[in-house]
Amino acid sequence: MSTSNPVNLLDFDVDGLVAWFAGLGEKPFRARQVMRWMHHEGCDDFDAMTDVAKSLRAKLKEIAVIRPPVPVRDSISADGTRKWLLDVGNANAVETVFIPETNRGTLCVSSQAGCALDCAFCSTGKQGFNRNLSAAEIIGQLWLANKLLGAARDQATDLEAGEKDNGRIISNVVMMGMGEPLANFDNVVTALRLMLDDHAYGLSRRRVTVSTSGIVPAMDRLRDECPVALAVSLHASNDALRDRLVPINQKYPLRELMAACQRYLERAPRDFVTFEYVMLDGVNDSDAHARELVALVRDVPCKFNLIPFNPFPNSGFLRSPAERIRRFAGILIDAGIVTTTRKTRGDDVDAACGQLAGQVQDKTRRVLRLKQDMEIRR
Ligand code: SAH
Ligand code: SF4
Repeated sequence: MSTSNPVNLLDFDVDGLVAWFAGLGEKPFRARQVMRWMHHEGCDDFDAMTDVAKSLRAKLKEIAVIRPPVPVRDSISADGTRKWLLDVGNANAVETVFIPETNRGTLCVSSQAGCALDCAFCSTGKQGFNRNLSAAEIIGQLWLANKLLGAARDQATDLEAGEKDNGRIISNVVMMGMGEPLANFDNVVTALRLMLDDHAYGLSRRRVTVSTSGIVPAMDRLRDECPVALAVSLHASNDALRDRLVPINQKYPLRELMAACQRYLERAPRDFVTFEYVMLDGVNDSDAHARELVALVRDVPCKFNLIPFNPFPNSGFLRSPAERIRRFAGILIDAGIVTTTRKTRGDDVDAACGQLAGQVQDKTRRVLRLKQDMEIRR
């Protein structure tokens, strides 16, 4: 018999699970054992946890579950980018994207269904805010991707023996999916701790990145509570422009944002901040903007990642031409700033950030599509 409102063990970081186990009268090592089954083995069945005492397994089955979000669509792009659409209830869906590269595999994780910050060029923002994801729904994306990618790898290595266990499939996590991670601070930090913990995923702090639009007080908290690599969505070289493109700038303007970046670097695992900069044709992409940026970030050790705008219907923006992006990058590079331009990946499965949200803006259509997907899965 199980309770109608079971506790989802994916909601706990290690300390949280130890405390919860203590409440059951169980020792800390039992919690760590279960932690490893869940996150190392991808196990969601208490009966399969063979070295856990039978009586404890029976108790857990009554009051707890291990429940990741449910994928309703799984698409693979020609370039290997894989995207899952996850049903998070009430007709809300979020996306998780896996991007394989030669020396690493990056998982792009969502933190909220929708986003309240309403950046002018972002389709997630246009969708409005639905709700925060739980810690289980955030770490569940890594849990699920590991499992589904692992299954794919096992199949592949049936053919190519010897390839298995050649390092991790997911070596990096970026909180760059849907939502503003620092607006869902507690759940995101619980999930980050699991990403870093050896009893769970054991990723290096340098390989876990939080991307923020610049919520200054939460940047300070992250620095104090769980410093990981930091990316900041800059997108403009002065306050007047950034006020329009990234409205949170009206609350935390550039001077404060730059100071917060400097404070963050005092404790960060990397010695630079990555500034993301979406390239919007005729809006923020002139030579003058590039020069203004160089002056703006003068005192912040940083790298730039230029992101060609991903268009979506009725956005009102266009992507800067490739030649314009090259010139813009050239000005930053000449000033001594390491600058990369993001490759557009997974275009054929709309795997770009927030892209899917653009398609499902119309809630009625979204419900319909989700339902159809569910039917297909059954
Ligand atoms: N909310 C966080 C993280 C999610 S968005 C943030 O804003 O940083 C990840 C990155 O994609 C951000 O830099 C965001 O500004 C950018 N982005 C959003 N919409 C985009 C679009 N249509 N084209 C290109 N980049 C976009
Ligand atoms: Fe939210 Fe980031 Fe999109 Fe801005 S860019 S609306 S903060 S998800």
